[in-house]
Amino acid sequence: MSRVWNFSAGPAALPEEVLRQAAEEMLDWHGAGMGVMEMSHRGKEFISIAEQAEADLRELLAVPADYRVLFMQGGAIAENAIIPLNLLGERDTADYVLTGSWSVKSAKEAARYGKVNLAASAEASGWTSVPVLESWQLSADPAYLFVCTNETIGGVEYAADPDLARIGRAEVPVVADMSSHILSRVIDVSRYGLIFGGAQKNIGPAGLTIVIVREDLLGRASPHCPTAFDYKTVAEAGSMYNTPPTYAIYIAGLVFQWLKRQGGVAAMEARNIAKARLLYDYLDGSDFYENRIDPVCRSRMNVPFFLKNEALNDAFLTGAREAGLLQLKGHKSVGGMRASIYNAMPIEGVAALVDYLKTFAARHG
Ligand SMILES: *Cc1c(COP(=O)(O)O)cnc(C)c1O
Repeated sequence: MSRVWNFSAGPAALPEEVLRQAAEEMLDWHGAGMGVMEMSHRGKEFISIAEQAEADLRELLAVPADYRVLFMQGGAIAENAIIPLNLLGERDTADYVLTGSWSVKSAKEAARYGKVNLAASAEASGWTSVPVLESWQLSADPAYLFVCTNETIGGVEYAADPDLARIGRAEVPVVADMSSHILSRVIDVSRYGLIFGGAQKNIGPAGLTIVIVREDLLGRASPHCPTAFDYKTVAEAGSMYNTPPTYAIYIAGLVFQWLKRQGGVAAMEARNIAKARLLYDYLDGSDFYENRIDPVCRSRMNVPFFLKNEALNDAFLTGAREAGLLQLKGHKSVGGMRASIYNAMPIEGVAALVDYLKTFAARHG
């Protein structure tokens, strides 16, 4: 067996330890005589797996007691509809901050259900920066303010939790798409009304969506909201109104335990800072490559970069594959290259990438 360094934006690399444990438990989980995929979601074994996963996630993110953790399906894209269907309530408007592909998509979907006020947009920068909190123009009485705190495709990230109290609007719940950086850094959950993300970037397998929602936001769903997507229904059923994605929850749970063994989110953040610095410092010091994102909002998870001579792109990717470095091609809307370096990517993988960048530049520079 040989494993590569996998820089995929998602579904993405998982910790090898987790995969080995899952392999060992595949046929017989803890003496149950069956694997997790084969278990009833209502049996005591699976309920213990789901409860442990929730408890570990709560501990890792220090989720306050008045927030509910939901294990849902449909991915972040389905949440783009599920959120307005649940949160608009009596109000007709929601505010959106546009920072790139994902938030643009979110705003477009929300406009099918209510009025969207564009509170701020980074489009004029070519999506290479993010609008600072102080520039956000909230509407008079929005149901919520939506922000994507890490744009996976463009590679921009808000460096801090948005604190609407700083612009005198603490009453507006912040809804954050954290699909591609949840658990990569310490956050203050209490700054948000709702946090969501698909699991397949920085947690586990595709098919699981994590939603962390403040209790007072439950019970506002539109009559048109599918019952299986009504947060109150899901919360009251302990995420088991319908059959949840059991195997994905199990793997996510193993990842949470792995994160705890690594020292928790603060320890991961320190590693992620070191990994991102290694890569960005090399790119910035090179006259062969470039990253075009404003340094104050560069993503620690998704690092887009360009070869100054784009005619070498194919040779670069071929050589990378030969060196065991995969999935470096940039998103088609951006071009160039992108290295996604989530929690499961160790610094050794980033060092291998930087070595290859140097070798390739020396050969072709
Ligand atoms: C990947 C991603 C999505 C889309 O997730 P799906 O699981 O495909 O629905 C949405 N937002 C962000 C920030 C993402 O990284």
